Amino acid sequence: RLEIRNLTRRFHGRTVVDDVSLMIEPGQVTCLLGPSGCGKSTTLRMIAGVEMQDSGEIWVDGKLVCDTVFRVPPERREIGLMFQDFALFPHLSVAGNVAYGLTGSRDDKRARVEELLRRVDLLQFIDGYPHQLSGGEQQRVALARALAPRPRIMLMDEPFSGLDNRLRDGIRDETLTLLKEEDTAVLLVTHEPEEAMRMADEIALMRDGRIVQQGAPYNVYTRPVDRASVSFFSDAN
Ligand code: ATP
Ligand code: MG
Repeated sequence: RLEIRNLTRRFHGRTVVDDVSLMIEPGQVTCLLGPSGCGKSTTLRMIAGVEMQDSGEIWVDGKLVCDTVFRVPPERREIGLMFQDFALFPHLSVAGNVAYGLTGSRDDKRARVEELLRRVDLLQFIDGYPHQLSGGEQQRVALARALAPRPRIMLMDEPFSGLDNRLRDGIRDETLTLLKEEDTAVLLVTHEPEEAMRMADEIALMRDGRIVQQGAPYNVYTRPVDRASVSFFSDAN
C-alpha cells in the first residue's frame, strides 16, 4: 500500500505540488488526472525518489520511505516505474531487459522472465532485441521489466501516449489485468480523462498542484466540483 501525506514541492518560490495526500491499496489503480503543468510528474518523481519534497511523507506498506530528514534510496523502494520515455536498453536482449532488476539464481531469474513474457504474449521474442520489436511490443516488454521484481507499487507516467489508438486499447487492458493479478498498487498519471475513466478505480483530479477532487471515476466525471473541472472534462472531448 502506498500512502503519501501532505507532499509539497516548490521551484523558485512557486509551489508546484501543494499539500498532496493519497492512499492506494494493493490491486487498486488510482489515476492522477490533470492538465499539462499541474504537477503530476513532479509528484511521481518524488514518490520514486528521484526528486526531493520540501515537506511531507511517503509510506510503503506501513514503512516510512521518505520524509524531510530520512530517505530510502530509489532502488530500495520496491517501486516499479513505467514512463513514456523510459526506453528499453538497446544493447540488451528482451530477456536481458526483463531480467535487469532481478536478483537470485540464474534459473530463478530465467523462470520469472519466461513467466512474464508468456503473460504479455511475447515469449517468442525472448532472444530478440528491442529494435526488432514494434512500439507496442516494446511497451509490453517494458511492462514485464517493471513487474519482474514484484514491486509493491507501480508508478506510470503517461505510459501509453506514444502508441496509436488501435494498439492502445489492447495494451491498456492487458496492463490492467497483469497489475491486478500481481496485486500491485498503481498510480497512473494522465492528462486524458478518457484514459482515467477507462483504467481507474479512483481518480484524483489535480490542478495547480492541488488535488481538487477525488473519487470513483463516474462520480468525478458526472459531479465536477467547479467550472474549471467542467471545462477540463469538456475541452478534452
Ligand atoms: P505534463 O502533463 O505536461 O507532463 P505535469 O503535470 O506532469 O505536466 P510537471 O512536470 O510536474 O507537470 O511540472 C509542474 C510544473 O513544475 C511545471 O510548471 C514545470 O515547469 C515545473 N517544474 C518541473 N520540474 C522543474 C524543475 N526541475 N525546475 C523548475 N521547474 C520545474
Ligand atoms: Mg508530466
